[in-house]
Amino acid sequence: MQKNNFFGFNRLVIKIGSALLINNDSTVNKAWLKSIANEINGLLSNKVEILIVSSGAVAIGCGIIGKKRTLMNLNELQAAAAMGQAQLVIEWQDALKGINVKAAQILLTPDDTENRKRFLNSKNTLQALLKLSVVPIINENDTVATDELRYGDNDRLAARVAQMVMADGLILLSDVDGLYESDPVLNKKAKHMPKIDSVTDDILIMAGSKESNFGSGGMLTKLHAAKIAMHAGCTTIISNGAQDKPISYLMDGGKCSVFKAKESPSIVRKQWLLGFLDTRGTLSLDKGAEEALNQGGSLLPVGLIEVLGNFERGDVVVITDKKGKEIGKGVTIYSSIEASLIRGCRSEAILQKLGYQGKAEIIHRDDMVLF
Ligand code: GLU
Repeated sequence: MQKNNFFGFNRLVIKIGSALLINNDSTVNKAWLKSIANEINGLLSNKVEILIVSSGAVAIGCGIIGKKRTLMNLNELQAAAAMGQAQLVIEWQDALKGINVKAAQILLTPDDTENRKRFLNSKNTLQALLKLSVVPIINENDTVATDELRYGDNDRLAARVAQMVMADGLILLSDVDGLYESDPVLNKKAKHMPKIDSVTDDILIMAGSKESNFGSGGMLTKLHAAKIAMHAGCTTIISNGAQDKPISYLMDGGKCSVFKAKESPSIVRKQWLLGFLDTRGTLSLDKGAEEALNQGGSLLPVGLIEVLGNFERGDVVVITDKKGKEIGKGVTIYSSIEASLIRGCRSEAILQKLGYQGKAEIIHRDDMVLF
């Protein structure tokens, strides 16, 4: 079904910068928040799944403490983030309550997107929230992040989230309306770039050079984010959100820069799996399970007849038929020990076998490629 939005997105990450959400006196711009909540409502009623990456914790916290950001040391900034984040999520909850939608807070560190096991945990939680029609409100976990171990900007965090949930759209809303060939502040005739096919080194250098580092929110981090997202099959849009209806504006063909992904997220995922060589084990299936996979199903414990190798949750394993012929590859949700324990069981028996209620499938169909 063609979605009733200009870009046809099915799963969309919207990143909202502090400049849009937070007033100069460090309070939340409630009118803007209410307006974006209505825009989110429009998307949700068109069956677009929404995840929000919202900045603003540090700015709100500085206001509560009553001290300027520039005068604070790292620990004070982390304390500000802790106070501000609590307020930020309350504001989001209130705004979404107005459209009868529930919000959930997710705080991530780079470990949650770079470490395979934690990646899978974060991904599963986000997917469970989407299934419950809850809108995740995501931010960096600034209170524990240190300089060496942080994204530092929510543009790249949003791109990693998009990659994690296989979103097909990422909108970076800030106070710039996209990429220009030169600094539009210095050069009134600077040419706007509505469509970018690939984030080349030339484009990165252009945005990163001193004369043309135009976007106040940092055009360079936005371009890095677009590059990450495009490689994951996610089309990225940079647009100015400082207006009443920033999403409707975009859908009506408003000014922005579009970085169109060449492939869909599921094709990119499958290509990644096809090229993945460091597999850690093998799962052999019976005929019934093989047929279920061929019909687009996930790999369930009931059809598993043999588990070989030592692997952890999140590792890539080979899938074979019962004669040992390789038929595919996938990311396993269970370790080799767990998979052996639930081998041949119906999914309802997982709780009894493992002592906890795990996922019904061993490999989800989105995380699998068949040869
Ligand atoms: N995580 C920061 C905050 O909530 C914002 C980082 C950014 O704006 O990119 O204040």
